[in-house]
Amino acid sequence: MLITKLKDKEEIISFFDLQPFIFRCSGCEEVYSAEEDIDKLIEDNKDRISGIVRLDYLCREEFSKVYVEKYSSEIERAGCVIVFSCGVGVQVIAKLCERKRVLAGCDTCYLNGFQGLSTQNFDCQQCGECYLNYTGGICPLTACSKGLLNGPCGGAKNGKCEVSPEMDCGWELIYKRLKKIGKEEMLKKNKVLVRDYRRTIPGNPE
Ligand code: SF4
Ligand code: SF4
Repeated sequence: MLITKLKDKEEIISFFDLQPFIFRCSGCEEVYSAEEDIDKLIEDNKDRISGIVRLDYLCREEFSKVYVEKYSSEIERAGCVIVFSCGVGVQVIAKLCERKRVLAGCDTCYLNGFQGLSTQNFDCQQCGECYLNYTGGICPLTACSKGLLNGPCGGAKNGKCEVSPEMDCGWELIYKRLKKIGKEEMLKKNKVLVRDYRRTIPGNPE
């Protein structure tokens, strides 16, 4: 169970120019989801989308795969995919649509306490300011051992992480994914990302 809030409209409104296909998760609404804000944004832009599917718990990869296949032609036609879910859900859809630009419509916020167990291959640290839109849908905080936001440390060998040789270097994966969607230039153009740790302090209203 994770909690999400809609990203700043300024950041996501331009994505609608690309005629996106939309995945809208209705999963963790028992905890909190910015349902009304998300639905209003979609309604206001309904003439600018190529299709939409609403799912419960799209973080379940096997389940979402069925829908990605079912809507494959609409997704193919779309200029990008926007996912309104937690960071885990966005990563799942980015993996399933690896040749398409997949964008997060929400930030995942810190939640105190135990959030339950998951068998997913993806993780989200609930950093409060999702970076997946800069990194091809691969989380730099959980896929990189050092949680680096602005590029690799340079220590990888044969694609493996210098800290944990059993795992792939997250930043090599990010580069390859961005290259696949023709966006590797973004790594040069992006602003320097600075993590705001106040967003993960328990009890902080931000
Ligand atoms: S960048 Fe990673 S940790 Fe932060 S919200 Fe996105 S998926 Fe979660
Ligand atoms: S080798 Fe790659 S994954 Fe490991 S710490 Fe360096 S950049 Fe991160």
